[in-house]
Amino acid sequence: MRVSTLYKNNQPVLSMEFFPPRNQAASETFNGVIDTLSALDPDYLSITFGAGGSTRDGSYQAVKVLIVNKKLPTVAYIAGYGLGPDDIREVLDKYKEIGVETIFVIRGDKPKTDDAALHPDSFLYASDLIAFIKSHYDFTLGCAGYPEGHIEAESLDMDIHYLKQKVENGAEYVVTQYFYDNAYFFNFVEKCKAQGIDVPIIPGIMPVYTVNMTRMLSKVCGSTITKALDTQLNAVNPDDTDSVLKLGIEFATEQCRGLLKKGVPGLHFYTMDRSKSTVAIVQQLRQENLL
Ligand SMILES: Cc1cc2nc3c(=O)[nH]c(=O)nc-3n(C[C@H](O)[C@H](O)[C@H](O)COP(=O)(O)OP(=O)(O)OC[C@H]3O[C@@H](n4cnc5c(N)ncnc54)[C@H](O)[C@@H]3O)c2cc1C
Repeated sequence: MRVSTLYKNNQPVLSMEFFPPRNQAASETFNGVIDTLSALDPDYLSITFGAGGSTRDGSYQAVKVLIVNKKLPTVAYIAGYGLGPDDIREVLDKYKEIGVETIFVIRGDKPKTDDAALHPDSFLYASDLIAFIKSHYDFTLGCAGYPEGHIEAESLDMDIHYLKQKVENGAEYVVTQYFYDNAYFFNFVEKCKAQGIDVPIIPGIMPVYTVNMTRMLSKVCGSTITKALDTQLNAVNPDDTDSVLKLGIEFATEQCRGLLKKGVPGLHFYTMDRSKSTVAIVQQLRQENLL
């Protein structure tokens, strides 16, 4: 399945992202979540890849289960940080063998601990990795974009300049970091267009799953918690799981409404290997004939 063809259909494309399970117990939960969410008939699913190859085998096994066993349209990720060209080829050859046609290419992050395992020829930026993959394989490639700018970027404009390099080197679509104010996304898309980036840009959606996770991840990912969301997070009892999920579902559904009404090419859900919120949001949007 080539993602680039899906985005040509003029219908919002529904995609969902998962982490590979880390152990047997997580595998069972993962399978259940995949079965629940694939019943919504998403256009494709995707499996992340730990930087430094930390989930190399787990990611491969998860992609294999989805593509080979469950026959689901699946995108595999590769994060280049720490890996050498031969490592990258080994990972990609295995994906190719099981029928993967689309690869989402990211740099990955430096582990906070030590650099001992960093390959001397590791790719420094995703654009270099994309160029390398493009010159050796026929995969459709995607890349990451950051509506508020990547946390290390000197400015949003420079970050978009580097995004353009990723597209020029072969990325055919962009999935964004999540954001809690659609204005960041629309402003980003405008700026990308102004710089000549003309591939589909798909908003990433991260519903609130827990208050702590939302606050912690927003710092790591550089996704601003808006005043409106902050007020809601302060008002809810963080231990009241149902109320927190409900808040997250309502907030994300409203965000998705705004995005779909402006004609975004798709919605990409960061599921965090959970199903309840994504199911509720998608069902609601379908009831409203928005998706
Ligand atoms: C949709 C999505 C999925 C993700 N999935 C994963 C995953 O599966 N595994 C994982 O480990 N991480 C994942 N990430 C996180 C990602 O790896 C990190 O955000 C990482 O810090 C940056 O990756 P990138 O591909 O955007 O890097 P790059 O595009 O290389 O950019 C990294 C930084 O370098 C700057 N830069 C880029 N090119 C240059 C250049 N030539 N010269 C100077 N500066 C430059 C950019 O402005 C940016 O600040 C994901 C992110 C998103 C949005």
